[in-house]
Amino acid sequence: MGVCADLQPLPPVPEPDRSISRELDRRWVLRAVRAGEIPRSRVCDADRAVTASAEVLGTPTGRDCPVCGASAASGALRTTQWIHGSAIGEKSGTARSLSEIRHILASLSPGDDITVHVVEVCLHCRWNCLLREDRYENQTEDQLGD
Ligand SMILES: [Zn+2]
Repeated sequence: MGVCADLQPLPPVPEPDRSISRELDRRWVLRAVRAGEIPRSRVCDADRAVTASAEVLGTPTGRDCPVCGASAASGALRTTQWIHGSAIGEKSGTARSLSEIRHILASLSPGDDITVHVVEVCLHCRWNCLLREDRYENQTEDQLGD
């Protein structure tokens, strides 16, 4: 007896075709900031558009900020998704919610591809760092057969 029978569950965001982790770069930057080799102002420079999108569309990471120490409970440290690709026109270079990304992926034509940049942002100190680049290639069936 489906209580939520008329609520169609959203399909999960599919696995990317290629994913590039920037975790090592992130660790290097954090180590350099702690050692005083890079000023905090250079890594805590998220502009208004970035912090606003993190506030509205971001998902709290459940972790403390690695730079200012804002607590996980504050929800200050968030991840956001920025999409890029010529196939998506004016949506390229904008932050999107996961459900919007699902819809965009579902509407791609064969041969279109997009890249999703997963960015960590702290609402408290404006730390921002690229965590991962996920590439989605909407291949034609011919290409898939190769
Ligand atoms: Zn912070």
